[in-house]
Amino acid sequence: MTSDSTAAAKTTRTASKQVHPKGKDNPKGLRDIPFALPEVTKEDRSRALKIANALRKHYPDSKCELDFSAPHELLIATILSAQSTDAGVNKATPGLFAAFKTPAEYAASTPEEIEGYVKTIGLFRNKAKAIHASMTRVVEVYGGEVPGNMADLLTLRGVARKTANVVLGNAFGINDGVTVDTHVQRLVWRLGIVDEPKMDTGKIEKLLMALMPRPRWSEIGHTMVLHGRYSCTARPNCKHDHPICVKFGVNCDKAYNKSKL
Ligand code: SF4
Repeated sequence: MTSDSTAAAKTTRTASKQVHPKGKDNPKGLRDIPFALPEVTKEDRSRALKIANALRKHYPDSKCELDFSAPHELLIATILSAQSTDAGVNKATPGLFAAFKTPAEYAASTPEEIEGYVKTIGLFRNKAKAIHASMTRVVEVYGGEVPGNMADLLTLRGVARKTANVVLGNAFGINDGVTVDTHVQRLVWRLGIVDEPKMDTGKIEKLLMALMPRPRWSEIGHTMVLHGRYSCTARPNCKHDHPICVKFGVNCDKAYNKSKL
């Protein structure tokens, strides 16, 4: 992380202590969140924590699998990863990052020039446009530094909460939400954290924020993604004997046989 981005992170942490009008009724420590979180029971929180601990034990070195060396590179890699694999993105980004070193260099280029480096990735034309537009705004509005807070990140083209959570958690060390992708969506159902398959990802994120300890939000996103990516795949070849699942996989048969998640 650069010293400027460290400063940005500090600024955001200070700001995050403020109470947001829409989050004022959330539990202590969550009142800066700009929306109300669902109410959860102590028992639900306790079970969720046990799942988080089991995942941590099984994936002790979990981290973001996208390669990056600066916040703007992580932002770009995350934009590229939508509906694509991290491995595929990591194959394309060394060439891209070598050709464009700073947000200003992306802004000074064109979407067509960026396209040439990301052609192996699905939806590359739209993603190249999003990269160009987001880097242009980073330069024009944020002085060339990726903003280290949710509200500003969400103003960038191609950035929704999932991308913003990845950037905040991994480039700035800020827990302002939980990354929820299709792996997490599948897993929370199979592990009985939610009571409907394919629940809306926004609802899942709010529930996980209410259930899980805030300092671990980023880690929980990583470990759930890893479990979903490598063990609890869409059509898992498991005997329900995974150490995490023996205890918590209450909806595995339903998910596998009925919802085809
Ligand atoms: S038992 Fe299999 S299907 Fe169930 S959560 Fe574990 S890996 Fe997924």
